[in-house]
Amino acid sequence: MAKYSIHAGHNFHVTGAHGFIKEEVVDRQIKDATIKYLRAAGQTVYDDTDEDGRTQNQNLANIVRKVNSHSSIDLAVSIHLNAGKGTGIEVYQYDNKTDAVAQRILKNVCKATGLHGHGVGVKKNQGLYVLRNTKPSAILVECGFVDTDHDADVVSEHTDAVGKAIAEGILGKSVTAPKPASKPASKPVSGHLYRVRKSAGDAKSQIGAFKDKANAINLAKKHSGYEVYDESGNKVYGASKPASKPQASSQSIVPYPGHLIKQGSRGKDVQRVQRAVGVTPDGIYGPATKKAVQAYQKRHGLAADGIVGEKTWGVMF
Ligand SMILES: [Zn+2]
Repeated sequence: MAKYSIHAGHNFHVTGAHGFIKEEVVDRQIKDATIKYLRAAGQTVYDDTDEDGRTQNQNLANIVRKVNSHSSIDLAVSIHLNAGKGTGIEVYQYDNKTDAVAQRILKNVCKATGLHGHGVGVKKNQGLYVLRNTKPSAILVECGFVDTDHDADVVSEHTDAVGKAIAEGILGKSVTAPKPASKPASKPVSGHLYRVRKSAGDAKSQIGAFKDKANAINLAKKHSGYEVYDESGNKVYGASKPASKPQASSQSIVPYPGHLIKQGSRGKDVQRVQRAVGVTPDGIYGPATKKAVQAYQKRHGLAADGIVGEKTWGVMF
């Protein structure tokens, strides 16, 4: 058995690339899946994602420190998404020692997404901080472009498959899915942890966990609808009132399509809305989507009419 260090790039203080999707959100989903499949195959895996760094440099330094704190790691893998309106998957390595595994990851992720390699095969890069400074060999995977419509769609819809593809690329063999845990696994931790979530029981919505309560509250303040819970599930911070004002839509990263999206609507914009509210993105705006949009609007202090107009869109994107 081998030992691996896996992390997702960036964090919620120093965010990654934003476009149709958010890098720091989707890379964490892929990272979680990668870890899940590696562990299912019996490997030792450390999650060295950093949620605390307040600047890009701190974030990178924290990651490297975590990776280097373990002994005899066989490979470190850094998971990112690209920006710049290109398309495809990129894999970076520090030197040719990791040729075989890097090629396997590239091939697998391309297959899982239907995307091609961006540029020519695996690239050598000795300038990337994480690759340069980690003691074990490290590989960085850019899983598609957040600001290219098709890339963003396929990657965000297949985070589990992409994670599996990376895990299988690392191991050079296929891995079967782990049996679902009987209840959501809460990681054993030393000391108290303050979790930032939408509600006590909603582990999926968690965007961070901190030993320091102030850090947790800070993060929750930045994300409307999020609250802080201690280990027993008691709320220690939570805006009882919805966020004051929706952002102006002019700040949206994805421009408002210019028409209302509501029950009966179909297509790409509907899928985008569905992903934002956590509904299966089938592109058909039915009653379930309407309900989820209403809940989203309520959480964000918007009129809960279940119709996505300019205001709701501006908050979503
Ligand atoms: Zn990145």
